[in-house]
Amino acid sequence: MAGAADFVRRLGFYASYAWSFLVLQQQRPLIYGIAPTDRCNLRCRGCELPARDRPDMTWPQMVSLMKSAYRRGFRDLYFTGGEPMLWQDAGRTISDAVTTARDLGFFHIHVYTNGTMGLDPPADLTWVSMDGLRDTFAARRGDHFETVETTIRSARGRRVAVIYVIDRFTAVGVEPFLRWMVETRLPVTGVMFYFHTPYYGVDELHLTREERRTEIGRLLRYISHGFPILNSRAGLRALASGDWPRPTAVSSIADVDGEYVCCRAAGEETCRECGYAACTEIVEAQRLRPSALLGMRRYW
Ligand code: SF4
Repeated sequence: MAGAADFVRRLGFYASYAWSFLVLQQQRPLIYGIAPTDRCNLRCRGCELPARDRPDMTWPQMVSLMKSAYRRGFRDLYFTGGEPMLWQDAGRTISDAVTTARDLGFFHIHVYTNGTMGLDPPADLTWVSMDGLRDTFAARRGDHFETVETTIRSARGRRVAVIYVIDRFTAVGVEPFLRWMVETRLPVTGVMFYFHTPYYGVDELHLTREERRTEIGRLLRYISHGFPILNSRAGLRALASGDWPRPTAVSSIADVDGEYVCCRAAGEETCRECGYAACTEIVEAQRLRPSALLGMRRYW
């Protein structure tokens, strides 16, 4: 009976949300992120978070944020970092946060991790960063490819997807990685491709608009060939053209210092060069593009 009641509750919410989002074209809150720590066990190229040396969030802060987000209408929650698997406070870990979020009534709970510390939290979906095979991966994240692969292959009963960030050094590894995923039957729902977003200003990792378009042309061909790519054609085309409204008020994220709409990097140049494919998927769904609407079923 509880299952039926929960189904009706979700259906009621999403029917109302779909009406305001798709028909009235409003951007009501839906997705809430919590980054409880900047700490990380890796030192990835292009990421300065671990160097910020800010304190972690406390458990009471975490619970208060979740309650506040739920009250304001957010129903889908994700945990990110830093590396969220490192976070703990008052004997609580990110697994406790996932369980508490579910008890509070959030519909979907995702975790974003570098995949070096196991995949224990009982999330609905865990996104693991893998930017290419061994050498390409190492160019961005260090020599941890085998560790992450082992983590994914031994994650029994967990639903996992990969995030691959394309930058100047990892672009070359896309096709070998896709072939390897298929040939070795990596147990994931698929891979979502992001492009490097210049949080700290345009840097050595950045691809020009023209280079990005070339990479996206390749991704569209890989989709045609049946590779397990989670990006929709519409979402990729929006990333190529740059023709999409941003930032989006559908999502917000909080860290120890406060709350931000869309992501923590909002700024004119950063948003103009944004490579967060998840954003274009939301935007293209609101534009009623079938590939974006249908594609979301694979990772929502
Ligand atoms: S950089 Fe991208 S994800 Fe961040 S606020 Fe701008 S549009 Fe949103």
